[in-house]
Amino acid sequence: MLGNIRVVLVETFHPGNIGSVARAMKTMGLHDLVLVSPRVFPSETATRLAVGAADILESARVVESLAEAIADCRLAVAASARRRGHEWPLLDAAGCGRQMVAEARQAPAALVFGPERMGLSNEQLQSCTHRVEIAANPEYSSLNLAAAVQILTYEIRQAHLALEGKGSGDATGELPEYPSSEAMEHFYAHLEQTLRDTGFLIRQHPGELMVRLRRLFNRARPEAMELNILRGILSSVQKAAGVRSRDDS
Ligand code: SAH
Repeated sequence: MLGNIRVVLVETFHPGNIGSVARAMKTMGLHDLVLVSPRVFPSETATRLAVGAADILESARVVESLAEAIADCRLAVAASARRRGHEWPLLDAAGCGRQMVAEARQAPAALVFGPERMGLSNEQLQSCTHRVEIAANPEYSSLNLAAAVQILTYEIRQAHLALEGKGSGDATGELPEYPSSEAMEHFYAHLEQTLRDTGFLIRQHPGELMVRLRRLFNRARPEAMELNILRGILSSVQKAAGVRSRDDS
């Protein structure tokens, strides 16, 4: 179950932080680390700070985009200290641990961390399903990257131990089959294209519409079968829009 839980670090600046994150992960029994465009990696500093967790760095994967890092995940939780723009479903640290452990029984789940200086961009946040905030001092709430990873992976371990204590994982019952992040991205691209085909969305004036629609569908969290129905509806709308524009000519 813990093997299905992935830590994703986006555009990490200091290689030392990557090493400290590996160490934090290993102490809590996690080993799947994905790095999105790190400034420096591999690095001796990272290996030195990982201490006994250098194996996690050795097996870490480096990718170019967050979309790639979470493509196969159904749950992706963005760690962010600050509310930004439109709010995404919010978890606290313990709730994040419980949800990740529950969903990781079925499919890979990701915990996503931003760069040291800027944190995650709005767009990166919006490609995740949830946001988690560590309840810190409101006047100084930004933790060091590895400290944030330590707290959230500790909560994952506590949730894992609590579930193990209850006996097997099936006590919590079957979960719905949610689509992967990649399937959701295909849906949003299809939705946007359809809205352009019908003239509802005008290229020169996209505004905030797509963000609002993402927020709506993310909140609804359609199951894989429901997403198939929505894709079918979009295709039928596209077909009708095509027929109409031909009739007009
Ligand atoms: N200066 C940035 C924070 C960077 S800290 C900002 O103000 O947004 C590096 C990363 O650690 C963050 O992107 C986030 O993923 C995580 N982090 C730090 N403090 C956190 C908190 N209180 N709650 C959740 N995540 C936090």
